[in-house]
Amino acid sequence: MKTIVVGGGAAGMMAAVAAADKGDDVILLEKNEKLGKKVFITGKGRCNVTNACDRDTFFEHVISNPKFLYSAYSALDSKALMDFIEANKTPLKIERGNRVFPVSDHSYDIIDAFKRALKNKGVEVRLHAEVKELLIKKSEISGVKLSDGEILSADKVILATGGFSYQSTGSTGDGYRFADKSGHRLTERKPALVPFETKEEWVGKLQGLSLKNVKLSLYNAEKCLYSELGEMLFTHFGVSGPLILSASSVYAGISEYRNPYILLDLKPALTDEEFDKRLIRELEAGNRKELKNILNEIYPSSLAGMICGIAKIDPFKRCNEISGKERKALLAATKRLKITISKTRDFNEAIITHGGVSVKDVNPKTMESRIVAGLYFAGELLDVDAFTGGFNLQIAFSTGYLAGIS
Ligand SMILES: Cc1cc2nc3c(=O)[nH]c(=O)nc-3n(C[C@H](O)[C@H](O)[C@H](O)COP(=O)(O)OP(=O)(O)OC[C@H]3O[C@@H](n4cnc5c(N)ncnc54)[C@H](O)[C@@H]3O)c2cc1C
Repeated sequence: MKTIVVGGGAAGMMAAVAAADKGDDVILLEKNEKLGKKVFITGKGRCNVTNACDRDTFFEHVISNPKFLYSAYSALDSKALMDFIEANKTPLKIERGNRVFPVSDHSYDIIDAFKRALKNKGVEVRLHAEVKELLIKKSEISGVKLSDGEILSADKVILATGGFSYQSTGSTGDGYRFADKSGHRLTERKPALVPFETKEEWVGKLQGLSLKNVKLSLYNAEKCLYSELGEMLFTHFGVSGPLILSASSVYAGISEYRNPYILLDLKPALTDEEFDKRLIRELEAGNRKELKNILNEIYPSSLAGMICGIAKIDPFKRCNEISGKERKALLAATKRLKITISKTRDFNEAIITHGGVSVKDVNPKTMESRIVAGLYFAGELLDVDAFTGGFNLQIAFSTGYLAGIS
C-alpha cells in the first residue's frame, strides 16, 4: 500500500514509522526545511515527551473528547511510547508529576530518535514539500497536490498538519482547510494553555510577581468550572503561569462567556476564621505602627503594597485603629481576590489549539475519516486537547500511531 503522511511533526513522524513498520511504502511530506520544528521548542527545549502515569490519570488530563482517544491510547500508551524512543537510542527520565524528558534535556534527541526510526523503516522524507490540495475522487482519496504542482498518488493519506498555535513552526491551519473543503465538520478553534488578559488596573502593576501555593477558581455565569492549587504569575497584560494555563483550557471549552472571572485564595491553608485570627495577632503586635509596615509579614512585598488599595484601606492607618469592617475587607481581598478576564492571549502564545476536526467525522478505532475513504487524521488537528504534563504529545503520538497501523 502507498501511504502519504502530510506533516513531519510529532503525529506525522510516528504515523510514518508505524505505517512503514506494517509494510506500507511511505512518503512523509514536510513543508519546513526540517522535521519536528514544534517538537524542538516543547518543554522549554527539553521536550516533555509524555507522562508516565496510569491510564485513568492520562484520561483525567484530557480535556476535549477523551473517549475518542481510548483506542489510540490502547494502541500506543505512554509505556509503549517510552520503549519506542529508548529503543531508538534516546534514554528517558521521569521527573516530578511523572513528566518524561530525554536524559540529555535536549528536545532534538527526541527528534533524532524519530529520524533514526524513519530511516530504519525506509520512509522517504521530503522536506520543503508543501501540500496544497487533497485529491479526492468519489469520496475516496487518490493522492495530494504539492505547491509546485507535483501530483503524488496514494492509497492512503494521513493528515498530521498540527493546529493553529505558534504558526512559525509550520502549524498554519492547512489541515483545517483541507478537512473543511472535503466536507468534514470543524469545531470552533480557540487558543488554549494560554495566558489571560485581565481588566483590573492593579494586576499589571504586579508584573513579575510569582505566587506559589495559591488556589485559583475559574467562574463563568457565577458557576465554578475549575479550581486548583498551584503557581501563577502576574504579567503586564494579566496573568500567566501553570494554574492559569490549565484554567485557560477549561475556559476554551465555554460556549457562552458570561462575566468570566478568577477568584484567588492567597492563603488556601487557612480558613477565613484562621486568617482573621492571624490578622488580629499581627495588628495587635503592630499596635501603633502603620498598617503597611506589618503586611510584609503576611504577603510578598509587592502584593503587601497593593492589597490595601484593593481592600480600599488607608495603608498609613495605625494597626490599632483598623476596624472590624476593614479587617473583613482585607480578609476578602486575601481569600477571594477577584480578577476579571477580558480575553485570552492569541494563538501565537497558545501551547495548544482547542477545537479542530470534529471527532464525529473520524472513526476512533482507526482515525479514518467517515466522509472520505483512505483519509486519516492525527494529532492537534483533531478536536482533542489536554492539560500540560506531556499529555498533548502523547495524544499526537498515539493518534499518529493508530492512523499509521490502520
Ligand atoms: C511552546 C510549546 C511548548 C509545548 N510543550 C509541550 C510539552 O512539553 N509536552 C507536550 O506534551 N506538548 C507540548 N506542546 C504541544 C505539542 O507541541 C503539540 O501538541 C504537538 O506538537 C502536536 O503535534 P502535531 O504533529 O499534531 O503537530 P505539529 O507538531 O505542529 O506538526 C505539524 C507539522 O505539519 C507541517 N505542515 C503543516 N501544513 C503542512 C502542509 N500543507 N504540507 C506539509 N507539511 C505541513 C508543519 O510544518 C508541522 O511540522 C507544546 C507546544 C508549544 C507551542
